[in-house]
This record gives sequence, structure tokens and C-alpha cells, in this order.
Amino acid sequence: MSLAQGRLYILSAPSGAGKTSLVAALLDQLPHLEVSISHTTRAPRPGEEDGKNYHFVEREAFQQLVEQGAFFESAEVFGNYYGTSQQAVEERLAAGVDVILEIDWQGAQQVRKKMPEALSIFILPPSQQALRERLQARGQDTAEVIEGRMQQAISEMSHYPEYDYLVINDDFTQALAELKAIFVTQRLTLQSQEQCQAALLEDLLK
Ligand code: 5GP
Repeated sequence: MSLAQGRLYILSAPSGAGKTSLVAALLDQLPHLEVSISHTTRAPRPGEEDGKNYHFVEREAFQQLVEQGAFFESAEVFGNYYGTSQQAVEERLAAGVDVILEIDWQGAQQVRKKMPEALSIFILPPSQQALRERLQARGQDTAEVIEGRMQQAISEMSHYPEYDYLVINDDFTQALAELKAIFVTQRLTLQSQEQCQAALLEDLLK
């Protein structure tokens, strides 16, 4: 019996859109779904763990991985490098697991070229004001830093037309239900069901 091939999802959002909490809740609710752990050259934030949030590597090590062709996609985002391990993603997909890539728009463009069947989702805040308030609530950043983050967020959001699905995170419960609906619907397509329910379908027509 051959295992079903998992599906690849791209998930992008500006910082402050609530992507991390939505994905955590989604993983709790859906089996056979995982998030790919990226490599990054940025320093870990308090509470982040190597191998859990990211594989934290030095620039030199990252560059070597690029030269070895180890990345499915990679990009420089706000002065740091990020990349998705090709081998890790291929292994999980081959094991029948759906994989989410939490990546920026540049990585999303590379993935679409390599794997056009990947589905992409963009999570948006309900307004600029709400986004600003969420960024302000995060810590004691100066008004200047917050304004810089806002400009970065607007620049990231300008790429929303390149995505297949848009989810507006106003009410968390509703946004989660909408996000979940995207994943569940894909699992109900004829192609997916023929892979996952092959025995049942054969049995029904005996
Ligand atoms: P952060 O440093 O705040 O965790 O992430 C900053 C940005 O980098 C976010 O937009 C995030 O989606 C993006 N990012 C994280 N991992 C990857 C990756 O492997 N590839 C690409 N292209 N972007 C990534």
C-alpha cells in the first residue's frame, strides 16, 4: 500500500497579524499537519528554542547550506537569512503529512515556481490601526521602531494578491475556523480522498 503524499501550504502574514497563535491552534485541531522548522541567521528571542522554533545557525553555516543546495527556498528578510530545508519537507510530504511553510512573500514566490500545486494563504489584520495596536502591545518599543515595523508590514501585505486564500484575523475564533476550513476542504477533494480512502472506495463498488 502506498502512502498518500501530503500537501504543501504556504502561510504568510505581516508581524502582528496573529499567525503564530492561529497556527498553534490549528496544529492542535488537525492531525497529520506539521510546520516546517526553518533555518535562520537571526538571534533567538527570549523563550525560543533551537530545533523547535528555528534551527539557529551562523551566517557561514547558512551560506554553506545554500551552496550545497540544501534549501527548498531561502530569502533575506529584514537583514537576516531564512531558509526551508528541502530534505525535511520532502520527507514529511512523502510520509503523508501536510506541511505548512511559514515564510515571507519572497520564499512564497520561489515555492510556487518549484511546486505550483502548493496552496498559499495570507493572514491579514482587520485594519492598520489594529495592527499598530498589536505591535505596540508586544513590548516597550519606541514609536520610531513601531513605525518601522508598520512600514515593513505594509510592504509585506502589498503581496497579498499573489496568494490563493486570504484570512482576516479580526475575531480569533472565526479566523481559526476559516483557516481550518481551507485545510479540511483540501482533504476532501477527489484526488485526496482517492489516496486516503482507496480501500473504502474500492469496497463500495464491489
Ligand atoms: P521572524 O524572525 O519574526 O520569526 O520572521 C520574520 C519573517 O521571516 C516572517 O515574515 C517569516 O514568515 C519569515 N520567515 C521565517 N522562516 C522563513 C523561511 O524559511 N523562509 C522565508 N522565505 N521566510 C521565512
